[in-house]
Amino acid sequence: MTTQPEVGVSDFVLLDNLTTDKFIENLQLRFQHNKIYTYIGEVLVSVNPYKTLDIYGQQHMAQYRGREMFEVPPHVYAVADACQRVLRQQGRDTCVLISGESGSGKTEASKFIMKYIAANTMQVHREYIDRVKNVLIQSNSILETFGNAKTNRNENSSRFGKYMDIHFDYKGDPAGGHISNYLLEKSRVVNLQPGERNFHAFYQLLSTNTTHAKKFALNSSSVYKILGNERATAQDSKLYNVTNSAFNALGFPPAVVDNIWSIVAGVILLGELSVGEDGAGRVSLGGPLRQCAGALGVAEPALTAALAGRILSAGGDLVSKEHSQSDADYTRLALAKAAYDRLFTWIVQQINKKIEAPENTYKSSLIGVLDIYGFEIFDTNSFEQFCINYCNEKLQQLFIELVLKQEQEEYAREGIQWTPVQYFNNRIICELVDAPHQGIIAIMDEACLNPTKISDAQLLEAMDKRLNGHKHYTSRQLCPTDKKLKHGVDFRITHYAGEVTYAVTGFMDKNKDSLWQDLKRLLHASRNAALRDMWPEGAARLQQTSKRPPSAASLFRSSMSALVAGLTSKEPFYVRCVKPNPVQSPNMWDEQLVRHQVAYLGLVENVRVRRAGFASRQRYDRFLQRYKMLSQYTWPNFRGSGDRDAVAVLLRDLQLADVQFGHTKLFIRSARTVHSLEAARADL
Ligand code: ADP
Ligand code: MG
Repeated sequence: MTTQPEVGVSDFVLLDNLTTDKFIENLQLRFQHNKIYTYIGEVLVSVNPYKTLDIYGQQHMAQYRGREMFEVPPHVYAVADACQRVLRQQGRDTCVLISGESGSGKTEASKFIMKYIAANTMQVHREYIDRVKNVLIQSNSILETFGNAKTNRNENSSRFGKYMDIHFDYKGDPAGGHISNYLLEKSRVVNLQPGERNFHAFYQLLSTNTTHAKKFALNSSSVYKILGNERATAQDSKLYNVTNSAFNALGFPPAVVDNIWSIVAGVILLGELSVGEDGAGRVSLGGPLRQCAGALGVAEPALTAALAGRILSAGGDLVSKEHSQSDADYTRLALAKAAYDRLFTWIVQQINKKIEAPENTYKSSLIGVLDIYGFEIFDTNSFEQFCINYCNEKLQQLFIELVLKQEQEEYAREGIQWTPVQYFNNRIICELVDAPHQGIIAIMDEACLNPTKISDAQLLEAMDKRLNGHKHYTSRQLCPTDKKLKHGVDFRITHYAGEVTYAVTGFMDKNKDSLWQDLKRLLHASRNAALRDMWPEGAARLQQTSKRPPSAASLFRSSMSALVAGLTSKEPFYVRCVKPNPVQSPNMWDEQLVRHQVAYLGLVENVRVRRAGFASRQRYDRFLQRYKMLSQYTWPNFRGSGDRDAVAVLLRDLQLADVQFGHTKLFIRSARTVHSLEAARADL
């Protein structure tokens, strides 16, 4: 395997004359030869091949076991192995951060990492470990059913962020896991882009008239509003069985699985209800009300009442207030979205109960795998993109801090001199979004708390006033000559990855993310035990003035800061995923698209930082093992003592001087030196 000829360079650090063009050239060359993996030091760059490569089998896994990254061709298994080694040898927690845009291969990479980790365990306790392994894999198929959808960018796109911890016992075997989910794209439930599908679960339920579909008179050949023009396929029917056997394997009782599918049916049926007006101008509901109420396990009159109006407590008295037709319709869709969103989070919680390491296991360390949405720039960008792009700013911040920190720490530890590289620190953009009082989230929350109803346009005014003069924020009001920005609608953030124009329309609403108490009470009163469990706040008595729940953006901000805090304490590994073309083709190379990703992932800067001091560093023993045959003084054995001395003698013999000797590692300044060593080895 190691004797295969190299295509281009397998580590960008070894490129001569580093430029973006050279970088992309190397990436393309390797992609065309099915070499989809390339390193930047210990960072793995991965290009989606859009075809099945024979590089993931058992024998491939075996090749990476216990090997240093540079000894074997770049691979995602090498990252997984390095991770596991740090954990086993140093007892440190590690994490793999996988980033890239939609369809670039993040989720696939995370699955390969899990697969490697699960396979690379000791032979003792085989049965127990197989269970843990099985559980991790099964939970993935459930998450994909409920959280993934076909988009124009990816047939199986994750519409939520996922962070998974795998716990290890003192022997380094997996003992259990925990999944955190972030911000499901719930607007998809009621609003589809042309050519896209809703979450897979809906189609799986409908496929070939499953028992669950029949129960609610749902039919695979009918058209349902929230499913757009899309129908269930044979594949959906296959996956429906996969999902159910995964539920079964994880120990979900059949009654609970029934409850889950009933809620999915209820959401489809909510989409079928019609909201009209009777002759007297009052809201009247039509459509499959009885079925919908049945699926949600509530009484039909209760459902109708909760959609048509609400009950207010005015000074202790209960008064009912009817919705307008448009409010009632809005309420219906809000209920559909909220019911599905809660269902998803609830399923994740149930999975966590199943995969958590048993109480009495000693959890010595863990590996975290983060597979989260990449930076998004669409034609129109809304609240969802705002949150997703903020998430990417936070992760970029972490990348900057950790990569710089790690480099600096290593040089310090090894007693090496170096000159730091300057590059853009995006902290200023993170603060534009999340600073207390002054940031966009704080301004939005303030507007949402205002007792008088603030419109989206008024929110924009407030932002303009507060953020006037900020280098990374603008709008038409602040920059009247910029005709591309729509007055009273658009604002633009200059993200580290580029400019994004957001339409403020819907921000107030999506941030408040409120649901009438009536709907919570309705669902909490359901015969469906799962629904009752999902909506505990529905138990509050009417007269109780409930505290306003935190806004969507501030919840997201807290979950991001908890995530970042958790990651900071771990030893990070990075996988940077690149998408070669927008049409999911194995043969096409879209230079423009790749260039954009290389720029915003900061890959060339990454190489520069990595090379700031030294192109390469290697432990003395490993270096010797690889190159000892190049000198008569070290081959077959060094006659002195100590690897460090041996390396010094070897280098003197080869007349290589552009190195520094660290305490445990040799630091080689130029890529050319590494090339010449490799060439000398190949010539033997
Ligand atoms: P992301 O999670 O970044 O949106 P995915 O991991 O879902 O992207 O990848 C999208 C699709 O690309 C996958 O469904 C698969 O068909 C293909 N793909 C991604 N990575 C690989 C790989 N290493 N080998 C083969 N196909 C891949
Ligand atoms: Mg994904």
